[in-house]
Amino acid sequence: MCTKPNIWFFLLPLLLGSCQKEEIPAPGQVDAELASYLEDFINEGEARDYQPVIDPAILDIRFDTLTGAVTGQCLTYSDGRREIKVSMSFWANAAAFDKEFLVFHELGHCLLDREHLDTQRADGTCLSMMHSGQGRCRNTYGASTRTRYLDELFQAD
Ligand SMILES: [Zn+2]
Repeated sequence: MCTKPNIWFFLLPLLLGSCQKEEIPAPGQVDAELASYLEDFINEGEARDYQPVIDPAILDIRFDTLTGAVTGQCLTYSDGRREIKVSMSFWANAAAFDKEFLVFHELGHCLLDREHLDTQRADGTCLSMMHSGQGRCRNTYGASTRTRYLDELFQAD
């Protein structure tokens, strides 16, 4: 049981690493297979003059076993740290654009602080890749729509 203040965790990661290693990974840990998605996300944001809302250094991204139909989660902890969990079973069978959609959507929550947006366009497709997946809009994230969705994702307002 680790009872040290969270601030120490940031100041002395090496000393406290063994204390929390089993339950909570050190901040900024990203699964190797997911790291390129984070890199792409940051590059796409920079190309649109995006200024980070949340520091990526306090974000963990890793695979986990998620229950039911949940494919990804963005969690915020009391110390401000954030964590994205990606469903291992989803990932094993997902197409390339579906993988990118999922990670970018969760990064939209965890790094851009965006909420869900289920607005439909006139043709019934989703206005935003931040749709909940439970609204009525149709997700068409793919090669021909990627730029439009990323423009919407990173637009400052
Ligand atoms: Zn979401």
